[in-house]
Amino acid sequence: HQRLLGKVAIVTGGASGIGEAIVRLFHQHGAKICIVDVQDQLGYCLSQSLGGEDNVCFFSGNVTIEEQISKAIDFTVAKFGPLDIMVNNAGITGTPACDIREVDLAEFEKVFDVNVKGVFIGMKHAARAMIPRAKGSIVSLCSIASNVAGVGPHAYTGSKHAVVGITKNVAAELGGHGIRVNCVSPYAVATNLALAHLPAEERTEEAFDGFRAFVSKNANLRGVELTVDDVADAVLYLGSDESRYISGVNLIVDGGFSCV
Ligand code: NAD
Repeated sequence: HQRLLGKVAIVTGGASGIGEAIVRLFHQHGAKICIVDVQDQLGYCLSQSLGGEDNVCFFSGNVTIEEQISKAIDFTVAKFGPLDIMVNNAGITGTPACDIREVDLAEFEKVFDVNVKGVFIGMKHAARAMIPRAKGSIVSLCSIASNVAGVGPHAYTGSKHAVVGITKNVAAELGGHGIRVNCVSPYAVATNLALAHLPAEERTEEAFDGFRAFVSKNANLRGVELTVDDVADAVLYLGSDESRYISGVNLIVDGGFSCV
């Protein structure tokens, strides 16, 4: 049964990692999707591999640039119809955690720019598109760094705490318009972001295996590896009408890691 039949969705950062898994799952469930990403080649190829322009399209856009996101939404609405689901997934970690005395503030600002301002811009323009129809669902990718300390660099942890705060604020504001606003906080998943501290050529299968081993050693749920598909499942639930009375929530997908 297709849980998003007839829905129109945008997935920022949809060209790779968790975003790609969300695009594939939404497509499987009958949604029409616009991938918005800065990686043109990857994003375009993904859209083509899923059947091309009739169901999945690509828009080259940077979430930190308001005009581009506004245009991405106009493009999507013109192509597929009114926007039902906005997934603010694009995010970066910045440089690896280090001594506070060594933190580079330009790097710090870059992380807040993408993870906080980028998410806010997505919410603002999704709200503009959704308010006239008095319905819609906005889902943003957060992290367990929003819930526990020490799992990411300072700016990353701060930025993800901010995503929860903004999610609650906007949920309270848009509830009166029938629009739900939630976020999803996964534990670590083996994507490029998880190995962002390594140059691309060093992100080998071996490096990903090493990361998975490290993660599973620290996981709470023994014998179960968190995958991008588990995260996409949570986003599907919050995006679909099955969660029609859920708003303002930070859905934690961490196998109990942060509650022990
Ligand atoms: P990823 O690096 O694999 O994918 C991120 C995508 O976002 C890429 O396609 C990238 O090109 C795009 N992107 C980055 N900056 C952008 C910008 N300014 N504008 C448009 N697109 C941009 O990372 P991922 O692991 O799939 O992460 C997706 C989200 O999940 C992020 O918000 C991240 O913080 C969150 N998250 C990831 C993990 C993890 O362990 N991988 C854990 C918790 C939360």
